Amino acid sequence: MFAQTPKELADIWESQHVSRILPSDVRHKDLKVYLEQLRSLGSNVAEVGLSVSGKEIYQIEFGNGPLKVFLWSQMHGDEPTATSSLIDLFAVFQKNREASWVTKIAESMTIRAVPMLNPDGADQYIRRNLQGLDINRDAIALKSPEAQLLKKLRDDWSPNIGFNLHNQNYLTAAGMTNRQAAMSFLVVYGDAAKTTNDGHERNKRLVSAMVQALEPFISGHMGRYDDEFTPTAFGDNFSLWGTPTILIETGGLEGRSEMFLVKMNFIAIATALKALSDGSEISFDPKIYEQLPRNASGRLMSVIFRNGTIIEGEIKDGRFRMLRETIADIGVNAERRRASFPVPMVVRRIGDLKAAAGLTEYDASDFRVIGRHQPLALGGFAEMLFYRKERQIDWNAMNLERDHPPDAIYSVGRWVLGEGVVPRK
Ligand SMILES: [Zn+2]
Repeated sequence: MFAQTPKELADIWESQHVSRILPSDVRHKDLKVYLEQLRSLGSNVAEVGLSVSGKEIYQIEFGNGPLKVFLWSQMHGDEPTATSSLIDLFAVFQKNREASWVTKIAESMTIRAVPMLNPDGADQYIRRNLQGLDINRDAIALKSPEAQLLKKLRDDWSPNIGFNLHNQNYLTAAGMTNRQAAMSFLVVYGDAAKTTNDGHERNKRLVSAMVQALEPFISGHMGRYDDEFTPTAFGDNFSLWGTPTILIETGGLEGRSEMFLVKMNFIAIATALKALSDGSEISFDPKIYEQLPRNASGRLMSVIFRNGTIIEGEIKDGRFRMLRETIADIGVNAERRRASFPVPMVVRRIGDLKAAAGLTEYDASDFRVIGRHQPLALGGFAEMLFYRKERQIDWNAMNLERDHPPDAIYSVGRWVLGEGVVPRK
């Protein structure tokens, strides 16, 4: 069924990818370096517009066939994974121009891709553009130059298919499971009534092809994105305007680097393009897409400390006063940050978290837990001292950490003292 198997695509990516920086650390200046590499490989790269601050927005083109395929990434500045995948895709096309699967793609379609539509957001690692606008809610009002550009690129060319490339919360689960949705897909409707058409049905088969290709790598870690119609979003309006669009959302996968997810996107997109180029898309069963588990949120947390005895108290006259102790689970989530930045861990839940699952869990039942710099509280940083229960501690001590050295200290997402003392579950 696959002219080029997913395994072969993975091997090609491993040996030929040009993205070298973790996607969350890629700035606009890094993108420009990538694009120079593509140009030196023979890629057709054009500057097509400017961001609010005047940063160049680029479009890469490949092939000269009749089917028009349009992809764009990183309209949300802090959603970077697919930008690197697009760079790698066009690099692989250039490096394998003589390979039959690539010539087939080049003959059957013309591909245009805008990597990093929101360079200002990418450089600040924020969702919105420099005007504070969510470009993906600006498809109708068109107040941002980035949205105006995206609309113009579509309207001037009328592509037959669109790929809208994003990142979703890394704690999104694949259905009611404890598994992260590393990749989620949505065949986007063009209206609230969910009217279907040939392009929509074709896109379902394409997603099925992508899911099947990724199955050997991330089985159980794929989901279907919420399909509610958003009247101001681009994917929805692309579909409405006549460019049936597929939304691809990259999530997280514990223990895997961002580069692994770059590879997953590469395999998925290359698979879809190949299935379009050789007509094999017709053979894929739309049910694979339809039966994907729905994205679920609220269940997964980054870290859960189970059954700790929390020392509660208040700060009075600048000093901690213990009030009571309570046995509870502590749920902590990492905030989204660039890979090279320390990850702030924030306490998001305290209580009975049996219905939640941590990507990492610790059994704190033999320990008392106290906030390191201030009492543990929702919304506060997860800075925690752990003491074995058999120890006698004066919790109101002037300098607790010095007067009663803790058995373990958890700080900025890691054990800075006593790693392994609080056992993993
Ligand atoms: Zn997004």
